[in-house]
Amino acid sequence: MRFLSATRIFSGKEFLSDSTVLVLNTRGQIEDLLPAGSIEAGRLEHHEGILLPGFINTHCHLELSHLKDRIARHTGIVDFGLAVIRQRNAVPEEEQLELMQQADREMAASGIVAVGDISNNALSASVKQASSLYYHSFVELIALNPERAEQVFGAGKTILEAFRRAGLAASLAPHAPYSCSKELIRLITGYDHSQGLPTSIHNQESKAENDFFIHKTGDYLRLYESLGLPIDYFAASGKSSLQTVLETFQKDAGTLLVHNSFSDRSDVHAAQKTLNKLFWCLCPNANLYIENTLPDAGLLISENCTLTLGTDSLASNSGLSILAEILTLQQHFPQIAPEALLKAATWNGARFLGIEEHYGSLEKGKSPGINVIDPVRGTVKPLA
Ligand SMILES: [Zn+2]
Repeated sequence: MRFLSATRIFSGKEFLSDSTVLVLNTRGQIEDLLPAGSIEAGRLEHHEGILLPGFINTHCHLELSHLKDRIARHTGIVDFGLAVIRQRNAVPEEEQLELMQQADREMAASGIVAVGDISNNALSASVKQASSLYYHSFVELIALNPERAEQVFGAGKTILEAFRRAGLAASLAPHAPYSCSKELIRLITGYDHSQGLPTSIHNQESKAENDFFIHKTGDYLRLYESLGLPIDYFAASGKSSLQTVLETFQKDAGTLLVHNSFSDRSDVHAAQKTLNKLFWCLCPNANLYIENTLPDAGLLISENCTLTLGTDSLASNSGLSILAEILTLQQHFPQIAPEALLKAATWNGARFLGIEEHYGSLEKGKSPGINVIDPVRGTVKPLA
């Protein structure tokens, strides 16, 4: 049995009394939370810093781990996307798997205990199976042409089955509004909802995405031209991307909007009003890497949005650390209370992935992983 105390203790939802003692058994399960004085000082394992549950990374692409330092910064999303397409298969699978394992270990060392991971194929399944982390794979589907919706949906279910056979949690997920027809998104969200699964979509990562939907102009025309894909069938809606596709999501299914860099107040209002289990995932370091921009986190907080955090992939980040994402947000949005960011990093992420019975908070009977953050040095150490 271990009796942990710290300078401060955050439950996943709120700061507890500083003198709380966390009782852990040898399996890392929480036996109890006790007031100070109930344990003699000599038996206490005291830590300087903030003690809290393991981090939940709700947006990663493990399968892009081999693209670390391969893609130029600040090129904008279209050139970033084209570079990923060009380079993603340029490395043998064995090397890809090795770098995925390394990324998995990096996440464990930075206190991450569970990951929502975007997957275009099932190559990562063996790494996830062998990992100490919990993985929920989001099988990502792409097809803007509505005529391809059924076929892509069918292929997606085959990949999903491969994850399930490996004993791993998995959903289907549309890639982004600009790369998926409404028909395809409806098939995906209908399926996920019928299975009680959460879904995830990249949202408004660039200004170009809104230009594409409002006027059918901007950089995404260049993307489809570069790919040699005519998009005559696509018509501007006159609305932002999010407001265009919002009706294709299921009101009562867990839905994660990732990035939200160009979501404005009207987008936030419309989405908050339409969807009941909506989560807004921020990946600020990836936004700085690709677009050199940041989402309006202050707006999301003031509109009572439920935030989660993600690292995105090593193609667009120098590391896979949720603490690094928290520190970036703190630096750029000093008005946001630390509690809100810590809750996004733990409890909210666990709720989105549907794993709050075991993860995301310090409660009796849970084995949520235990971290201690040193706020002065900006480091994190997993304790269990
Ligand atoms: Zn992503």
